[in-house]
Amino acid sequence: MGRWLEIAMMLTLLGGLLIACAPKDGKQPGVDEHQHDATAAHAATQTTLVKSEAEWKRLLPAESFYVMREHGTERPFRNAYDKNKQDGVYYCRACGQKLYDSKHKYDSGTGWPSFYQPVDGHAIGTKADNTLFTVRTEVHCSRCGGHLGHVFDDGPKPTGLRYCMNSASLDFRKRSEAPPPLLK
Ligand SMILES: [Zn+2]
Repeated sequence: MGRWLEIAMMLTLLGGLLIACAPKDGKQPGVDEHQHDATAAHAATQTTLVKSEAEWKRLLPAESFYVMREHGTERPFRNAYDKNKQDGVYYCRACGQKLYDSKHKYDSGTGWPSFYQPVDGHAIGTKADNTLFTVRTEVHCSRCGGHLGHVFDDGPKPTGLRYCMNSASLDFRKRSEAPPPLLK
C-alpha cells in the first residue's frame, strides 16, 4: 500500500512539473522565428566558448552544473530569482554574457524567473526539445551553450513569449553593480 502511495505521489509531482513548464495551450511557439534566431545566434558566435564537461564541473556550483550542462530543472518557487524584483541585469552564470534585463521580467506564476524577451536575440540560441513527452523549445546561452530553460508562446505583450528560466543558470547584478567577468 505504501509503495503505491509513493508511486502516486511521484506521478503527481512529475505531472505538476510537466504542466508548469509546458505550453498552456499545447502549441509550440513560432518555430520558424526561433529557428531563425538560433541561426542568427550561431552566426554571431563563431567563437563559442568550448570547455570540457570536467572543466565546467570544476567551474560551476553543483546546481548550476546540473541545470546548465545536464539540462536539469531547478525546483519552482524555491529558487533565487523567481521573486526578485530588483532593477538590474541577468548574466549567464557560466560565462558572464548579458542575457536578460529586469525591465523585461514579469511574474508568470510558474515559480521560475520569466521574461518576455532577452536583451538581444543574439544572446540566446534555441532548439527543439522532445523530452518530457512533449515538444518544447529549449533556450541556451549563445556563447557557452549552457542550458537556461525553455520558451513558450503564452507570455505577455509585446512579444507574447515566456522565457521560463532557471535561477541557477543566471547571475543577477544590480544596475549600479559591475558586470561579472566574461569567462575566457
Ligand atoms: Zn554562457
